[in-house]
Amino acid sequence: MRYYNWKTELLRIVMPLAAASLLAVTLDLGAWPVLLVTAAVCAWLLWQLQRLSDWLYRGAGAEPPEAIGMWGQVFDTIYGMQKQAAGDRDQLQAIIDYLRSSFASMSDAVVMLDRYGSIEWCNDAAMDLLGLRREDDSGLQLLNLLRSPDFVAYYEAEKYVAPFDMPSPINADIRLSISISFFAEGNRLLFARDVTRTHQLEKMRKDFVANVSHELRTPLTVINGYLETFAEHGGDNPRWDRAIDQMLRQSRRMHHLIQDLMQLSRLESLPQANEQELIHLRPLMEMVRDEVISAAQGQRQIDIECDDSMALKGQAAEIRSALSNLAVNAARYTGEGDRICLRWYQNDSHAVLEVEDSGIGIEPQYIPRLTERFYRVDDSRSLDTGGTGLGLAIVKHVLLRHRAEMKIHSQPGVGSTFSCVFPPSLIAKV
Ligand code: ADP
Repeated sequence: MRYYNWKTELLRIVMPLAAASLLAVTLDLGAWPVLLVTAAVCAWLLWQLQRLSDWLYRGAGAEPPEAIGMWGQVFDTIYGMQKQAAGDRDQLQAIIDYLRSSFASMSDAVVMLDRYGSIEWCNDAAMDLLGLRREDDSGLQLLNLLRSPDFVAYYEAEKYVAPFDMPSPINADIRLSISISFFAEGNRLLFARDVTRTHQLEKMRKDFVANVSHELRTPLTVINGYLETFAEHGGDNPRWDRAIDQMLRQSRRMHHLIQDLMQLSRLESLPQANEQELIHLRPLMEMVRDEVISAAQGQRQIDIECDDSMALKGQAAEIRSALSNLAVNAARYTGEGDRICLRWYQNDSHAVLEVEDSGIGIEPQYIPRLTERFYRVDDSRSLDTGGTGLGLAIVKHVLLRHRAEMKIHSQPGVGSTFSCVFPPSLIAKV
């Protein structure tokens, strides 16, 4: 296709003007021929402009007017761009239709929201699980339809790292796991999955552990009682003394195990306590220190470093249990003469409750799994110490309930530091 530039167009104007000038000079007609040609050129240009304007006004799709030179080129180029844009739009629409049809067939609810939180589209499952109506609710604010305060708080906080669990707004027996993500410019995509079955199984597991622990406690108390009596009064046969002693130790271990299991179940099932106590850490640390000194085998040096200007808002019994578990561990995995330090201090804006020991330490590869139930770095070693394998799981749950997190630093042969980091909102200045 020939490409026209301004020179061709200039020639188209200059040539008639030159001819008119020649005519005017030859026939002595004055400026009239030049004026007439100039007027004709202006009229032609205006006419082309008018045609362009009319064509654009008619909208995309209409055939462009026929024109010569640069004007024809302008019409054709705009027409080409219109066709390209229409093609791109069709392609985009096809992608959107494809995505919508795949979302539509999903069993999870999918809701597309614009940047203002209004519903753009939702699939069939969203109608069944969230009670939305595709046609009627389109354009409405999602928060006007899903009004549970917890969901509103989750939605507005815009921290969608972890999914949010809630009952379905149309059937409280259905449990939903909601996850939200951002796409494009502030638009949101909401997924809701039916997790009722998983939820029920999890509840059954918790109930089972709680019930079994509870049921085992009574027979074990009876066995323990008799064994203690036998151990106290002894028997005629010294061979029995050793057996009774071993039975007594094992039944005490089982007793601790059941106590820890019951405590874990309680921590898992209790709702977050609304009322918070003001916990002064020094008396608590002193109590735990005395407990550890009397339980530890051999001498330990236990220091307390406590910032008394600061108290913690939380559940005293739970914090005591967490600190006690960490301190007892420190005593278990240290030897005669080792040093243990209990600390309470402020770090940046957070408060830290810490137990440091100069004990055997832990290899780095084991650290991420320490808070799993019954996880032990070295089974034989932990069994010797009388641990249940549940101590750090209990600490983790206590911290979860206080929106705190645990940090573990350890070096084999040098020692370990277990730090519980509490959020600024739980600090009280005293
Ligand atoms: P246990 O009752 O076996 O101590 P925990 O859940 O309290 O169970 O701890 C899990 C594992 O973490 C322990 O078996 C032990 O191997 C390791 N551990 C915990 N605390 C310490 C510590 N202070 N020093 C070294 N190892 C530790």
